[in-house]
Amino acid sequence: MTPPARTRFAPSPTGYLHIGAARTALFAWLYARHTGGQFILRIEDTDRKRYVPDALEKIIDGLQWLGLDWDEGPDIGGPHAPYTQSERLPKYQEAADWLVAHGHAYRCYCTPDELAEMREKQQANKEKIGYDRRCRWLTPEERAAKEAEGRSWVVRLAVPTEGDITIDDLIRGPVTFNNAELQDAVLLKADGYPTYHLAVVVDDHDMAITHVIRGEEWISSAPLHVHLYRAFGWEMPLFAHTPSILKPSGKGKISKRDLQTPEGAVIPVMLHLYPEMGYLPEALFNFLSGIGWSLDDHTEIYDRETAIKHFDLKDINPGPARFPAEKLEWMNGVYIRMLSIDELVQRLIPYLSRDLGIPEEALARDQRLRIIAPAIQERLKKLTDAAPLIDFLYADEIDIGDPRLLTPRKTTPEQTVDILTGIIATLEQVESWDEETLETALRGLAQEKGLKAGQVFSPIRQAVTGKKVAPPLFATLVAVGRETSLRRLNDALNLLKRSVREQ
Ligand code: GLU
Repeated sequence: MTPPARTRFAPSPTGYLHIGAARTALFAWLYARHTGGQFILRIEDTDRKRYVPDALEKIIDGLQWLGLDWDEGPDIGGPHAPYTQSERLPKYQEAADWLVAHGHAYRCYCTPDELAEMREKQQANKEKIGYDRRCRWLTPEERAAKEAEGRSWVVRLAVPTEGDITIDDLIRGPVTFNNAELQDAVLLKADGYPTYHLAVVVDDHDMAITHVIRGEEWISSAPLHVHLYRAFGWEMPLFAHTPSILKPSGKGKISKRDLQTPEGAVIPVMLHLYPEMGYLPEALFNFLSGIGWSLDDHTEIYDRETAIKHFDLKDINPGPARFPAEKLEWMNGVYIRMLSIDELVQRLIPYLSRDLGIPEEALARDQRLRIIAPAIQERLKKLTDAAPLIDFLYADEIDIGDPRLLTPRKTTPEQTVDILTGIIATLEQVESWDEETLETALRGLAQEKGLKAGQVFSPIRQAVTGKKVAPPLFATLVAVGRETSLRRLNDALNLLKRSVREQ
């Protein structure tokens, strides 16, 4: 048995949640659930300059929508509260002071101008760019003098300048860095706010995180973090850096911009847009889990419980994985088809309400939706596909536009007048308005008149729905109802008659 893990997701509210970050969160969540441990949400909001006011709300909504529930977090608290870094400043201050007092960090008094000048010189002399550690070697007297000048300071980590450091990454194995390549990174800024490096280590330790699971863009920071753990004398968590996601084309990492599929469709990169676009959370969950990880070598569709059961960090492929855009809609369609009719209707209601401007309560009472839902379920790839397919149910009248649209192929308008007249007479007489009766009656009519079925069905479809492509005809007629169907057929007949007369 794997011991219960404590994993965390630590987004910064500097923007909305990127789909790559959501996938990393999903892996961290899966691992916590797989081991029967805890998943923690922590907000890393120490970058005040890049703060986006509504980002946090969108991030939280997105994670909840995806079903990644947390056991401790800013909204629900927990034994290590607060879970928002801006509310934990004294902890970082204390940690920074401790490091300085123990010689693992130092105050740096360099002004922005001095740093800029240092950089220019390094550039001019073709030297390596970076902080030259001039404040690391100051004597106590020199320090006292700087402070007497009233200079403000930042705290920098005094990294070892020789030797190597190896991170045992659970996904990619040992990764070795040369200490000489590392910078004396800033830990605490002049305004008393910590940088990411200090805050992440203090918090991961404080919150008893056992597995630090984050995107591979952070691996270059990992050696600094390991030096910090060593300086504090704290037990090290395990590290797992998840692979980046590549664009659908496989060329380049996905950026902040939307993704283009080879067919030219646009797929959002921000998580909060997926619900708006009619994706199912369980489909996106399945889809995202399959980018860089797989259940086995053939199963594409699996539920959350199955993923939890089989997930392991060591099975994540370290190489970057392509965003398989071509699978997204297909998979969403598979999940739509798995819904019961009641469930499908429930899920469609908010989208229909939004897109057709009908109150949700009215839709919830509308029996026609239950009739039409099984007929359209097959055809839906996204929940947003339903509105344009069934908007005719909610139209007062059908605007046919050009009466020629009522005329089937290889049929004259005059013949169509005759066909429509026959249809109306037949439908007025049917004893019951159900799919089977309607089908038998209309096929009978076609036979009687020596017509192809399509010559009868297509004018009905046009008249009743105003569309060439609509849900299956008989279910459509049942959903629209006898009275409205006949009214629309009569309107269409009149329109066609007028146009024939005018010719
Ligand atoms: N706050 C960092 C981010 O926004 C999290 C990095 C980490 O998980 O350590 O990506």
